[in-house]
Amino acid sequence: MIIKLADMDEEFVARGEMDKSVFSELEGNHVALTSAVGFELKVRKVGDRLRIEGPIRCVLTVTCVRCLDEFFYSMDTYLDIELAPSASAPEATEFELRSDDLDVYYYEGDEIEIDPFVYDEVLLNVPTRPLCREDCAGLCQTCGKNMNYETCSCDRSASTVFGEKLKSFLTK
Ligand SMILES: [Zn+2]
Ligand SMILES: [Zn+2]
Repeated sequence: MIIKLADMDEEFVARGEMDKSVFSELEGNHVALTSAVGFELKVRKVGDRLRIEGPIRCVLTVTCVRCLDEFFYSMDTYLDIELAPSASAPEATEFELRSDDLDVYYYEGDEIEIDPFVYDEVLLNVPTRPLCREDCAGLCQTCGKNMNYETCSCDRSASTVFGEKLKSFLTK
């Protein structure tokens, strides 16, 4: 979605969807979008700046780090950024639109594309250690059975020291 600065009202709501195919980059991390990415962003002029804020929502398929099952994860995040003309940037080189400050971005010209901001926000909020549920029992470290659904007769005391440490870390 593109905002044309000259045409825009002082304030409006940019509602839209980004197709999940745009996010194919995620697949390398065992993450896939199950739904389109929906956004509903309030765009407001503040002098020569723009404030863009609002919810971004989508559903992902992710893999539990403990039992390796895939499950749905509902992402509900909130974008809140400010855009300033690049002329006001401290040292804006031609294509260096982004400042060190995470929340302020710089734009050039009189059109702003919203999608890249939505895209970045989604990527930033992909869970890095997803758990299918808080108390996921994980896999048996000996036979590999999923202890959420199955039982096994492996000697639990034989699990490795590393495994025990990992377990206590994960259950904290
Ligand atoms: Zn799990
Ligand atoms: Zn087992």
